[in-house]
Amino acid sequence: MIKFKDISAIHGYEDFALDIPELHIKDGEFVSLVGPSGAGKSTLLRLMTRELRPIQGEVLIDGVNIAELSHKEIPLLRRKIGTIFQDFKLLSKKNAFENVAFALEVSGVEPEQIIQDVPKVLNIVGLADKAKNFPHQLSGGEKQRLAIARALIHRPGIILADEPTGNLDMVNTYDVVKLLMKINEFGTTVVLATHNREVVNAVGKRVVSIDNGKIVRDQMEQGKYII
Ligand code: ADP
Repeated sequence: MIKFKDISAIHGYEDFALDIPELHIKDGEFVSLVGPSGAGKSTLLRLMTRELRPIQGEVLIDGVNIAELSHKEIPLLRRKIGTIFQDFKLLSKKNAFENVAFALEVSGVEPEQIIQDVPKVLNIVGLADKAKNFPHQLSGGEKQRLAIARALIHRPGIILADEPTGNLDMVNTYDVVKLLMKINEFGTTVVLATHNREVVNAVGKRVVSIDNGKIVRDQMEQGKYII
């Protein structure tokens, strides 16, 4: 469970008043976070990974106020949360296998385990046959699927996707959306920040609309969403 409580200001964001009295995201939910550019979507996601800290209010993940985590505990939080971005953030000098493996190496996982786990996630995202390709040898959609594989490698309970289809054409957009939906069906909570209305309608799940730092609508029911 993710809970935002009485958030009204953020360290380092003097000119932006995020105002979130309450937002709960249950385990296994798929939430589309929508709103115009500058509304505060990325800010909300970055509060969950503790990249940002509220001056007032709390962000609780599984009952823990993440502002109270020590520096040693933050990597553990980040292993619980996989993140995906518009610009993929892949390592250009590493191939697909190595991009995913690196996430395990930095957390001290043994090589034998890495050799077992990486092919499994590459298979989930449909890139088993591209393990040796470098990012420049992958299409946009494949790059994003690789980023998703990396996000999944620690078996996180939560996936945060920040405009993940922003650089993709329609076909690849739907591949990525379908993959996020499949990951969600297997029980992972997904929070997807996007301004693509087709994407939101294709998902057909809860839509939280944010504008100028405030939640202006929280639409639980499925169905067509009109921005
Ligand atoms: P969105 O993801 O919806 O486009 P953001 O969460 O990125 O919006 O930004 C929300 C607001 O936060 C912006 O309008 C800006 O005023 C402020 N902001 C974003 N990044 C920073 C930063 N690094 N430092 C201070 N303020 C920022």
